[in-house]
Amino acid sequence: MKELLLLKNGEIVLKGLNRRQFEDALKKNIKIALNPLGRFEIASAQSAITVKPLSDGIDLDEVCERVSHIFGIVSFSRAALCEEKTMEAVLSTAPDYLEQKLRAAKTFKVEAKRSDKKFPLKSPEICAELGGEILSRFPHLKVDVHKPDVTVYVEIRDFGAYIHADPVRGAGGMPVGTGGKAVILISGGIDSPVAAYMMAKRGLRLTAVHFASPPYTSARAEDKVVRLLQKVSRYAGPMTMYTVPFTRIQEKLRDDCPEELFTIIMRRLMMEISQRIARMNDCAALITGESLGQVASQTIGALNCTNEAADMIVFRPLIGMDKQEIIDISYKIDTYETSIEPYEDCCTVFTPRHPRTKPRLKFVKEAQQKADFAPLIEEALQNLKVTTIYPEE
Ligand code: ATP
Ligand code: MG
Repeated sequence: MKELLLLKNGEIVLKGLNRRQFEDALKKNIKIALNPLGRFEIASAQSAITVKPLSDGIDLDEVCERVSHIFGIVSFSRAALCEEKTMEAVLSTAPDYLEQKLRAAKTFKVEAKRSDKKFPLKSPEICAELGGEILSRFPHLKVDVHKPDVTVYVEIRDFGAYIHADPVRGAGGMPVGTGGKAVILISGGIDSPVAAYMMAKRGLRLTAVHFASPPYTSARAEDKVVRLLQKVSRYAGPMTMYTVPFTRIQEKLRDDCPEELFTIIMRRLMMEISQRIARMNDCAALITGESLGQVASQTIGALNCTNEAADMIVFRPLIGMDKQEIIDISYKIDTYETSIEPYEDCCTVFTPRHPRTKPRLKFVKEAQQKADFAPLIEEALQNLKVTTIYPEE
């Protein structure tokens, strides 16, 4: 018996004329995610996508694991494929294929869908026949059409009959890439990987930018960011990471700017440089992990000063979230343990003793202009390090 995966599309189905484009993007993302596991046939059929293994020995558990991270899928299930489209084949396959689930259940029902109208039995007849067969094989079971423990689905499609039960919830969201492209400012902290995940979920393809200040920050701090992005990339797909050499800029900040404005000017410079990298990569937005009031640089006044440094829209998906809510998501996407590894971020070198929580934009801009960072910004942009990130194996 052959097995395949049946995936139900999410919000995609709402997209009317764009539906085709969304489906194609989803199929491409599935293909990229499954490519290391072997060859597959990926096809769309009504509001579902089928993933059929073509090579031998493919581990379907691993396929499910990867599929569970792909945005644009509401639910998925493993299904038995009866290539011979007869009721006899359905009756002999279903009880064996679903044996474990049916033994563990007390109640069940059968739901049939017949998109091949040439199939000799109508849906209610398929349900009645298969229901009877299951009852005779598993006499402990009872039929419950309202709240069954197991729902057995039979779908008679063009190329065969699919039998499955208990779909698993998918990652939801929209296929990565259908919402455009954005730059995520990624530190080694808890927040920015979560922000990346949240915006990839809304269909954005990500490019990552990380600011490093060696020797004040270590190679291990940068490696930690790479490992975080590998985790994020299980959801967001492969991405490019730019590491910006930030040391000379930070040293100039320390030497030439008023101490209480260090952080805010640094944040503005990060925005300015990230926006330049965004433009180089055709990205139309920036994403940060800022959350209102979390630290001095994330008050409403400080955020207004930071925001002014970029013209493109800045997404701050965590802005209204509590730390615990952010941590809950970081557990879910498995970044938490990596995020709490204790390495310095460039944000924590040269931190002022008394940062301004209500900076005046006018003074901030004056101090920034007086120091004239332009040549150092150009130099940093000439010396970007580029790393390609693939999902963690
Ligand atoms: P995180 O937990 O993501 O580090 P945070 O609460 O520590 O966030 P800040 O250090 O003030 O907050 O940084 C706010 C945001 O600025 C981060 O979420 C991230 O988007 C960006 N950021 C901070 N440091 C860096 C860095 N070294 N490289 C790139 N972006 C950074
Ligand atoms: Mg940080």
